Amino acid sequence: MGEREWICDECQEPILSAEDGFVEWIRNEDGLDCDFRVVHHPPASPYYPGGDCYRYTHVVGRRDLSLRVFAEDPKYIWHLNPQNRYTLARKLRGRK
Ligand SMILES: [Zn+2]
Repeated sequence: MGEREWICDECQEPILSAEDGFVEWIRNEDGLDCDFRVVHHPPASPYYPGGDCYRYTHVVGRRDLSLRVFAEDPKYIWHLNPQNRYTLARKLRGRK
C-alpha cells in the first residue's frame, strides 16, 4: 500500500497504479518531446472498451511508454528531450 497515484489528463480520474498508466507525447519536427499526457492504460480506462484515454493515437510523431518505466526510474526522462524537463518530472511524480 502507499503506492503513488496520478490523475489522468483525459478523464481526470485517478490512476491507482503505475501498471494502469501510460505516458503519451509528441516528438515534434525539431526532435523535442512535447505535450506529455499521463493517461490510463486502455483496459484501465473508464471509457474502455468503447474508447480509451489516449488523445494522440493518430497524431504524427506520437510516442508512448508505460508509466511504470517512469515510476521505477525517474531518471528515465533524461533519455528524452522534453520542452520542460522539470514540469514533466513533477507531472510524473504523482502523489501519495
Ligand atoms: Zn483516464
